[in-house]
Amino acid sequence: MANFNTHLSIATGASMGAALIAVNVRLIASGDMPWLIFLGALGGLLPDIDASNSRPVKLLFTVLALMGVAGALQVFKNNYEPYPLLMIVAGTYLFIRHVVFAFFNRLTVHRGVFHSLLAAVFFALLMTCISYHLLHWSVLHAWLNGLFIALGFIVHLLLDELYSVDLSNARMKNSFGTALKLFSHSNMNASALLAILTILLYWMAPSPMPLVKVWKGAQWNNYLTPVRLPIRRPINNKEHAEKYFGT
Ligand SMILES: [Zn+2]
Repeated sequence: MANFNTHLSIATGASMGAALIAVNVRLIASGDMPWLIFLGALGGLLPDIDASNSRPVKLLFTVLALMGVAGALQVFKNNYEPYPLLMIVAGTYLFIRHVVFAFFNRLTVHRGVFHSLLAAVFFALLMTCISYHLLHWSVLHAWLNGLFIALGFIVHLLLDELYSVDLSNARMKNSFGTALKLFSHSNMNASALLAILTILLYWMAPSPMPLVKVWKGAQWNNYLTPVRLPIRRPINNKEHAEKYFGT
């Protein structure tokens, strides 16, 4: 099994590559890169949300709780006085960091439902819905947020599978096939619940058409060529003078 640092660095690298390509083909602006790379890295850690009570998982829940705090601030900042707002923010942090964390620890089996493509789609749609409905991002950016979560997530599953191939002995370890799967066969109830929630999120998500439109209009042949900055023409003094002084 790949460890926390491997997952973090490979997911960050993959999302950097994807973000660079997205800038080159003009799917996104370069200013969007850092946030999307962060989401890709987060997606690369999410599947292990079901791992045991380990330090990386606690760190992951701290990050998720802080993101919840940022979201709560965004949603409630105009509706509440500072004191109740502080209570809401503190409550959000404690709820995610401790209650949701304890719930996950108790209910999930490592490499269960969360190590599946279904879970990747679930988290991508969850991110898209939160971005669009709660944080009021544009449809395009909400979907991009979801896509980068999915990218990191799938890279994690692939990496877990790669680590179950024992290259020196050319044989498969027992863990082969437990990470990259469509859904969890061993826990059908949890899989069914996750499938229902995923369908519900898809129904709530905004139409992906704006993303499809930009995607189709992207200059895909430029994926390796950085977009050239427009070259400034040297000012022709005569022309300039004519334009401004009419001489
Ligand atoms: Zn894993």
